[in-house]
Amino acid sequence: MKVYADNAATTKVRPEALEAYVKTSETLFGNPSSLHSEGQRAKELLEDCRARVAAVLGADPREIYFTSGGSEADNQAILSAARAGFSKGKKKIISTAIEHHAVLHTLEKLKKEGFEIVLLPVDGSGIVKVADAEAAMTDDTCLVSVMTANNEIGTIQPVEEIGALCRARGIPFHTDAVQAVGHIPVDVKKFGCDYLALSAHKFEGPRGIGALYCRRGAPLFNLVEGGAQEKGKRAGTEDLPAISAMTVALELAVQNLPQTAKYVQTLRDFVIDGLSTIPHCALNGDRNKRLAGNVSFCFEGVEGEALLLYLDDLGVCASSGSACTSGSLDPSHVLLAIGRVHDVAHGSLRLTFNENNTPEEMRYLVDAVKTVVAKVRAFSPVWRDLQEGKRQFIL
Ligand SMILES: *Cc1c(COP(=O)(O)O)cnc(C)c1O
Repeated sequence: MKVYADNAATTKVRPEALEAYVKTSETLFGNPSSLHSEGQRAKELLEDCRARVAAVLGADPREIYFTSGGSEADNQAILSAARAGFSKGKKKIISTAIEHHAVLHTLEKLKKEGFEIVLLPVDGSGIVKVADAEAAMTDDTCLVSVMTANNEIGTIQPVEEIGALCRARGIPFHTDAVQAVGHIPVDVKKFGCDYLALSAHKFEGPRGIGALYCRRGAPLFNLVEGGAQEKGKRAGTEDLPAISAMTVALELAVQNLPQTAKYVQTLRDFVIDGLSTIPHCALNGDRNKRLAGNVSFCFEGVEGEALLLYLDDLGVCASSGSACTSGSLDPSHVLLAIGRVHDVAHGSLRLTFNENNTPEEMRYLVDAVKTVVAKVRAFSPVWRDLQEGKRQFIL
């Protein structure tokens, strides 16, 4: 059996989105900036898509900028707020220890430029405390950036509360909603955010396309200079086939959200219950305040990379928060942030589902993980030491 359980990494494009992509490519190939009728027809679809994306988010169409994806949207939002803050002498940015690298690496760059970066901790269940965010806010804060939902452990953050605090203090607020849009209700007014990033390929749209919501009046500076596309804020001929496919995928995801979330959650809960019977393991992230499709575990005495390779042999595509997947030797910063020690964090497994997964797949998957964990432990010197009492179990 083949089981694709890596939907937080990317999703298969849904047929309706693919159809929109092909149809737009075939019939609306004009450049939206061209004055001739082909161009103007393309421009009409572009603005129609912008209005539809805006409607889903509770935004004004003038507040939507199409980008190459979530990373670009995160970068542009953070760098814009930082630049505006810098000109007012405000050089403090508050974020969290569990952000995606699109945020964390941008903040590291700003730190080298003299910004003070405060990364809020999370509790053991992977959630930021609103009081910590509030306590960190000062007059010289130019941005608060807190993700809506975490990509590794699926935890949903209190963005509405943090957004309200930012609003009350006049501090710009950015949220990386890449894992959230299409999966939980997202409304920019409710979130109280000035910037929000989304990406199509996380909700069954194509890769390489996303959007930045930027509240009217919030500062926005270009990452890409050139033509006057996207109100002069993001140069480059618009990828209309991808934009139209993203719009269709987004509308369908949101229309079906309650039913899909309910269904996917039953898959998730079955897998969590099944894997919890494995000795010396622990679920990562809050049991309830998590995305409907996210399962993340740590298994003691196991290398995450080995798990993935054996699972792949059994037809299961999964992911590990640990190291080797990302080409570095450090375990996941998210797992360390929730208090997992290095050895335990290395034995992590992330399984992420969507509506394409089936209950039969879940039964197969639970058995496959049980088999593979036992197999990897059988070869593991760490597991042997644990068994022989030379090391203490943590989980
Ligand atoms: C995938 C992801 C991104 C990056 O989005 P791309 O479109 O791949 O650039 C950013 N943040 C989070 C939380 C993600 O899951």
